[in-house]
Amino acid sequence: MKTENKYGVDERGFYGRFGGAYIPEMLYPNIEELRENYLRIIETPEFRKEFEGLLADYVGRPTPLYLAQRLSEHYGTTIYLKREDLNHTGAHKINNTIGQLLLAEKLGKKRIIAETGAGQHGVATATVCALRGLECVVYMGEVDMQRQAPNVARMKMLGATVVPATCGSKTLKDATNEALRDWINNPVDTHYIIGSVVGPHPYPDMVARFQSVISREIRRQLLEKSGKEVPDQVIACVGGGSNAMGAFYHFLDDESVKLIGVEAGGEGVDTGRSAATTVLGKDGIIHGSRSLLMQTDDGQIIEPHSVSAGLDYPGIGPQHAHLHETGRVQFVNITDQEAMEAGLLLSKLEGIIPAIESSHALAWLKKMEFTGRESIVISLSGRGDKDLQTYIDFFRL
Ligand SMILES: *Cc1c(COP(=O)(O)O)cnc(C)c1O
Repeated sequence: MKTENKYGVDERGFYGRFGGAYIPEMLYPNIEELRENYLRIIETPEFRKEFEGLLADYVGRPTPLYLAQRLSEHYGTTIYLKREDLNHTGAHKINNTIGQLLLAEKLGKKRIIAETGAGQHGVATATVCALRGLECVVYMGEVDMQRQAPNVARMKMLGATVVPATCGSKTLKDATNEALRDWINNPVDTHYIIGSVVGPHPYPDMVARFQSVISREIRRQLLEKSGKEVPDQVIACVGGGSNAMGAFYHFLDDESVKLIGVEAGGEGVDTGRSAATTVLGKDGIIHGSRSLLMQTDDGQIIEPHSVSAGLDYPGIGPQHAHLHETGRVQFVNITDQEAMEAGLLLSKLEGIIPAIESSHALAWLKKMEFTGRESIVISLSGRGDKDLQTYIDFFRL
């Protein structure tokens, strides 16, 4: 199998010792079908044309690479924002759901399932199912459904069925179990859309390829705007790691480009209320692949905490675990407080209210030292409308 860069997946589905497909035997046929077909299908000119057409006309790509003048002056360097917040539905997630939906159609699937925690991936999935007229079932923890009622309403408006997961802690991992059970029972007509660079092989590679449009555009836009082939640094927040993987993808082999993944430190990595997986995690199996994950000594998942729902995940994608281990990507973390302040700063300096996830990437700027000659690209993964209540409560607006 052809990988596009030296940090890509090997033919066994691994990134170093991370990755693979650790799945119940009943899921083998589903995963095998995907693994055998995904590259062949997504590399055909017909698929590319359809994918790129929808990204252009439906999502609104290319998203701008915006030179943030006042933010740059504030920090004394040159900062570009990759505006994924301007995508239809307000974040990068739709790049992946469109890709997987088109792939599902080519595989003859009639029905889509997904699981969602905060609801963002559920909404992105329900959106593309409405677009193409496919049945959509989204599994969501009962507790999350109460916490994220507006996203439940959005999914329903879009025609999806939202099924509450009522077992265990009634949150994301319970929803994942329900979705897997559904897929085992419906292997022929159903495709399971996973929302980040996680899951059994080939999901992490497939999602990275769909999101890689972000760095393909950054390269071209930066050259047009500044005459530079590559930036000095690319900074992105990491939940599962899909916007980061998309923003890093076409720079992985340019070792001069410093890549920084920003995890959610929550209330601080030592407080027991954090989601900084590369600091707190150990080797383990999560979501069907070997990666780093936050767990107790006897392998129970430790509940993560972050002010931003999209970063509140106890693992990271296996490729990120590998990029961490090889040192190709530097992983850092930012607390809730620091992220919130960075979100407010961007709003006041640039008139852009960012998603709190993206605010984590922005907050890293404050920790850096600049000479004034760098060019920095930040992945602005999403917009802050969904987070307004959190901003209101935090700043007593
Ligand atoms: C879901 C989400 C994230 C985190 O997911 P990744 O897979 O790590 O990108 C980040 N930002 C926004 C706006 C999101 O909706």
